[in-house]
Amino acid sequence: MDRLKAYKIDLHGLKEGVNAFDFKLDNDYFEAVGGELVNKGNLDAHVDIDRKSSLFEVKFNIEGVVYIPCDICLDDMEQPIYADNRLIVKFGKENSEDDELVVVREDDGVLDISWFLYESIVLNIPIKHVHAPGKCNRDMMNALEAHSATRSDVESNSAVDPRWSELLKIKDKDLNI
Ligand SMILES: [Zn+2]
Repeated sequence: MDRLKAYKIDLHGLKEGVNAFDFKLDNDYFEAVGGELVNKGNLDAHVDIDRKSSLFEVKFNIEGVVYIPCDICLDDMEQPIYADNRLIVKFGKENSEDDELVVVREDDGVLDISWFLYESIVLNIPIKHVHAPGKCNRDMMNALEAHSATRSDVESNSAVDPRWSELLKIKDKDLNI
């Protein structure tokens, strides 16, 4: 079964003028779309496709939250998302994509918007995303403090928990700024 079927829009079937679609982007959607950065969330997406003959203006409006690891403690945090995006789609001989202009093969006529929605969400995640002050995982914070005191020991230990390696990377990144 194609779990992303609802996101594959048959452009030939659209009427002239505005065609409106609503989608619920939940964990099932994120799992089906298979992006690496976000795999949990709960958002509402409204999509208007304004058809003028063989030209389509697609407007996305996405609102809700995604759950992604906090930069500091790595526990999931709730990140609010509010995204507006737009695409121009036209028919052509080959499928192609160039910034805002998407060409869909006319004999196929299907526009898959599942990945465009995902990209719009990811682009709206702030580079730095952390829990509100005091909301970080306390155990992790304590471990992090202990870790700064004995950092050389931890680095020489090859059996490091993968989460520690992530922390080390993050800390190194911070130091380079
Ligand atoms: Zn945190």
